[in-house]
Amino acid sequence: MSRLLDIDPALERELLREHQRDHFQDECGVVGVAGHPEAANIAYLALYALQHRGQESAGIATLEGGEHRVHRAMGLVADIFNEANLAKLPGRSAVGHVRYSTAGGSQLRNAQPFCATTDGGPVAIAHNGNITNAPAIRQELEGRGAIFSTTADSEVIVQLLARSRERTQEERLIDALTRVKGAFSIVLMTADSLIVARDPYGFRPLSLGRIDRGWVAASETCALDLIGADHERDLEPGEVVVIKRGRVRTLRPFHKQVHERFCIFEYMYFARPDSNLNGHNVYTYRKELGRILAREHPVRADLVVPVLDSGNTAALGYAEESGIPYEQAMIRNHYVRRTFIEPAQSIRHFGVKVKHNAVKGLLNGKRVVLVDDSIVRGTTLIKLVNMLRSAGAAEVHLRISAPATIGPCHYGIDTPTREELIAHGRTVEEICEIIGADSLGYLSLEGLRKSAEALKGGFCDACFSDEYPIPIDTEDQPPQLSLFQEIEQEP
Ligand code: AMP
Repeated sequence: MSRLLDIDPALERELLREHQRDHFQDECGVVGVAGHPEAANIAYLALYALQHRGQESAGIATLEGGEHRVHRAMGLVADIFNEANLAKLPGRSAVGHVRYSTAGGSQLRNAQPFCATTDGGPVAIAHNGNITNAPAIRQELEGRGAIFSTTADSEVIVQLLARSRERTQEERLIDALTRVKGAFSIVLMTADSLIVARDPYGFRPLSLGRIDRGWVAASETCALDLIGADHERDLEPGEVVVIKRGRVRTLRPFHKQVHERFCIFEYMYFARPDSNLNGHNVYTYRKELGRILAREHPVRADLVVPVLDSGNTAALGYAEESGIPYEQAMIRNHYVRRTFIEPAQSIRHFGVKVKHNAVKGLLNGKRVVLVDDSIVRGTTLIKLVNMLRSAGAAEVHLRISAPATIGPCHYGIDTPTREELIAHGRTVEEICEIIGADSLGYLSLEGLRKSAEALKGGFCDACFSDEYPIPIDTEDQPPQLSLFQEIEQEP
């Protein structure tokens, strides 16, 4: 195979660092539907269930008679789609996407699915994850005259696919995917197939299900539940599945040279608790983290209070293990969008104030264990601890069901730059003092790793350990193509 790109590794690293300063991290959810008469409607419902994975833009594309139809807009799924615009998305297959991106990447032109007409026919793609060598590939291709219509990483895959000399669209996609580094869970619709793929590390989830006589792939099983699909299995890391005329073929085009590195933060924060990831229920795991936290950081207190909704499940585990009663002593206004998710800092502050309110009657004179799943900048907890004290709490002991977040994610979770993280370069005591709690206990990295053993498989915990599976400061070869192993599966 011809080597299309030959990028200087030093330049690649420099461009990535520059890119990370602007930190365009996309958090996303994807869905693909094949062989269903109501493909767009099914995709819409699945996106509804995946809304927590991105609240900034959403889109659905279908293909009929060799032509794309696509509807994308900024906003929530419920606001973007209606009967009229869904009716304009005919076809038996569809791909859909929900997205959140940090400032700079937050524009309609970056909303997915991306549609393109290649000399191999039309394609539409939806991608979850971040491509770490996207800036370098982009610069290289632009230098050769390519015109990019978005600033999103994912377009790099479409550009590589369009330029590939391979014969079929699935070979072209695989050709493109072997040139990118980083995280991808992808659904790609072509004129006659739906192709779904996970990167060899398997950073982001992707599940496969059956719906009537058709197939559906979605980021999380909660989407399959909503549409009444039967969960078949999760895609394995490095697996490419081609669904064509009701038949499903599995390809394993990447050398097995890397270990699975599923994002542990999907279990801890990002995925919905009713989802199963790799066969393990998210809710159950979060509760277990709360139990471990209670054993690692016990405290004399009267109430265990969760930060709604992120700390709910771990707080239940903490309460059960410690025997301290669980009370929802802070109520959350569900009509305010996730504070973290608003790109402008000024809105973020406002969001925390309008989002939570303390239940004063429960708190007067009480010693409180406040449980959350993570601390990022510390903004939320500074305000919540203050709010509990103002409502009469005698003591506030903060317990976090994750180790300290000390590094950014390069593979698809939105975390700010290292310098913005409250735990960066600070001791637990210093963080506790800034937040204004009486004590602070983080889950230990050892405790987290031990608990993850029960989930089986390898994990990425780089944001807590600083151990990045795809080194971002050293040269790293992308996985190479091997001969296809094809496994036929009956419809
Ligand atoms: P902060 O106020 O910056 O410390 O943010 C902490 C809150 O953000 C916690 O309640 C977390 O559940 C939540 N959080 C952690 N990571 C993310 C993320 N990637 N996107 C949105 N919210 C997050």
